[in-house]
Amino acid sequence: MRIDLHAHSSVSDGTDTPTQFVLAAAAAGLDVVALTDHDTTAGWAEAVAALPAGLRLIRGAEFSCVAMDSEGRRISVHLLGYLFDPTSEIIIAEQSRLRDERRSRLRAMAARMAMDGFPVDPDAVLAALAPDAPAGRPHLARALVSAGIVGSVDEAFQRYLGAGGPYYIARADTDVRTAVRMVRAAGGVPVLAHPAARRRGPVVDPAVITELAAEGLAGVEVDHPDHGGEDRAALRDLAAALDLVITGSSDYHGRNKTVSLGQETTHPEALERIEDLAAHSHVNTVTG
Ligand code: AMP
Ligand code: FE
Ligand code: FE
Ligand code: ZN
Repeated sequence: MRIDLHAHSSVSDGTDTPTQFVLAAAAAGLDVVALTDHDTTAGWAEAVAALPAGLRLIRGAEFSCVAMDSEGRRISVHLLGYLFDPTSEIIIAEQSRLRDERRSRLRAMAARMAMDGFPVDPDAVLAALAPDAPAGRPHLARALVSAGIVGSVDEAFQRYLGAGGPYYIARADTDVRTAVRMVRAAGGVPVLAHPAARRRGPVVDPAVITELAAEGLAGVEVDHPDHGGEDRAALRDLAAALDLVITGSSDYHGRNKTVSLGQETTHPEALERIEDLAAHSHVNTVTG
């Protein structure tokens, strides 16, 4: 049985539509695949409708979160949630808080630009977005391109919008402890995504994972394309000590990344534990 529990469609930052995604998963020889778009469940319905015979879909999402390490630094972390109820009021309230917060953040960044004489109108930028779309730096980057201030989105990030850049403001992502409790309260199973992906920036120390386990974290993604061999071994030991489920996944993003579906996989017993932990797992799992 081949199981890949972390992948993205074009509903977030992958390139396959949910339909193309489930077809690609079957073509890659997977028996089970999870769709885990960033901060949204909007791709689930289409993926379920297009599910080819023999493929099982685990519905999930990857939540953008923040953790404090033992030195009080803010570390960006991702939390995978599986088989939770997308109509949970706690989840909906948090997603709407984040959307509102992203809009005020965009206004604050635009206000700083205005002080330097950049003609970026936040009302126009926000009006051009779909009502539920998460406003962010890519929209400001495109506005800077349209205003002729930079030649490309990439240049906008390099000069102005990247972390540490003059107009950068951090997002108020969900505290990862809150996110763990939120996924649990919605009947789902929280698994920490790529905790040792060091290329992306500072990573959490084992003490944070231990604390999260006490909050209800169910598993850790150990086998991930961005994890080195030593980190995998250390995470495997930590997961065993804390009795956490160990997962392995590709973090497929279609053509936006070079990884392929099924490049890393999860053991069937780990999936079984995840499904046992999910409330009403019989309702939650879909077979094509
Ligand atoms: P935000 O969520 O508003 O902080 O913006 C983050 C998004 O900006 C990421 O998901 C990327 O899609 C995009 N991004 C980050 N860095 C760059 C870059 N150097 N060039 C283009 N897009 C970027
Ligand atoms: Fe992504
Ligand atoms: Fe991630
Ligand atoms: Zn991901």
